[in-house]
Amino acid sequence: MLIFEKGQEGRKMSILPECDVPISLPKEDDQRKKSLHLPNVSENEISRHYTEAAKKAYGVNDGFYPLGSCTMKYNPKINEYIASLPGFAQIHPLQPEHTVQGCMEVLKTTEQYLCEITGMDRMTFQPAAGAHGEFTGLLLIKAYHESRGDGKRTKIIVPDSAHGTNPASASMVGYSVISIPSGEDGGVDLEELKKVVGEDTAGLMLTNPNTLGLFDRNILEITNIIHEAGGLTYYDGANLNAIMGMIRPGDMGFDVVHLNLHKTFSTPHGGGGPGSGPVGCKNLLAEFLPNNLVEEKNGYLFKSPVQSTGQVKSFYGNFLIVVRAMTYLFMLGKEGIPEASKHAVLNANYMMAKLKDVYDMAYPRTCMHEFVMSLSRLKKENGISAMDIAKGLLDHGIHPPTMYFPLNVSEALMVEPTETESKETLDQAITVFRSLYETAKLNPEILHQAPVNTSVTRLDEVRAARNLILRYDFSDKETDKDDTEN
Ligand SMILES: *Cc1c(COP(=O)(O)O)cnc(C)c1O
Repeated sequence: MLIFEKGQEGRKMSILPECDVPISLPKEDDQRKKSLHLPNVSENEISRHYTEAAKKAYGVNDGFYPLGSCTMKYNPKINEYIASLPGFAQIHPLQPEHTVQGCMEVLKTTEQYLCEITGMDRMTFQPAAGAHGEFTGLLLIKAYHESRGDGKRTKIIVPDSAHGTNPASASMVGYSVISIPSGEDGGVDLEELKKVVGEDTAGLMLTNPNTLGLFDRNILEITNIIHEAGGLTYYDGANLNAIMGMIRPGDMGFDVVHLNLHKTFSTPHGGGGPGSGPVGCKNLLAEFLPNNLVEEKNGYLFKSPVQSTGQVKSFYGNFLIVVRAMTYLFMLGKEGIPEASKHAVLNANYMMAKLKDVYDMAYPRTCMHEFVMSLSRLKKENGISAMDIAKGLLDHGIHPPTMYFPLNVSEALMVEPTETESKETLDQAITVFRSLYETAKLNPEILHQAPVNTSVTRLDEVRAARNLILRYDFSDKETDKDDTEN
């Protein structure tokens, strides 16, 4: 039942104090003629309504959430506590600099830590998400070539195992996208790369580990090939939990990188935000970074690079996410950061090893923080698809892995256990995956019916996608009277 369908006409929840300024209504013509349809509910009803809705949702605090590429890991609660401190939470972006020196120190310190981790020289926190970071990073690449009068570089090379946002960002910046296929081992096919690289190459975007969960074995050669052709190299570091503290994009020949603080650096995410996709770059690109970088000179001050590409988000980005990332970095420290990525990789390899005798792995070699399996054999032999297994997992209280992605694997399930899960949780999930496989073999009909233990059972996904109902239909509740009271 929706909130609009609850309560009674005239029931109120008074939380606003009496108005203490003269009421000034808009002109008669500008006034609303029909009811606003605000719910008429008591505080008790509204509280129950949202509690009920929250129970229907599933988050990392409910259970295992191995959604590949999304890093749905546990977010330490101390991050929330620090970010809620009034000195961080109750400031205004237009406050004079001398009143927010501590906050500027947070930006500067986090920039320094993350530059150390990525091997970059400077970093902006303005971008609000990973894809936004890609867009910003590509603007730097574009500005670089333009500043050298090099107008013929119009192409960005993107391997087919890249995250889907990579080609989209490149084309938003106005580049044409050259897609190259993966080689036998799931990495970039060097011969194919050499074929397309040339004087028109602006750069290459590499998702590493790629969307197959694999570290590219030829990464140094790849960056070399691009640099020799005069292009620049972009590292999609959204999944840095696979490598942080172990190896640095800057040392592997990358000029620019984005991170997803809302994945790797432990901020709750999902449902559309908020996020933070900082972009780090080498010195040769730093002069093009968006404005409002923090400099240190008798205290902290904001400064804009001379040839700045401008502003990609208001002020300094989502500041409180940077506070959470800083807290996470301080808590883990120099020892904890590489430890976290070792566990991310260990957990994924453990699950893969315990499942590969039944499920087919897309690339049965050591993986990084996630692995991809293909259910095409099960589909052929027993009519059980990746979707059916995903629905089966729901009945066991497990959030499904990423499905039907990457696109170059048929019937794909992409599993990312993350570093924050215990061995017991992994073992339990392995048992569930294995029992679903058995059910698929012996009793496939059960999986076609799944899920049966959830608040809604199998949805008609096609109808849901084709027949969108995005607004509530009030037509049977319309009243003619002017209803400005609500
Ligand atoms: C999640 C992800 C992105 C996009 O990040 P958003 O914050 O969702 O825009 C880009 N690349 C990779 C590899 C990712 O996993």
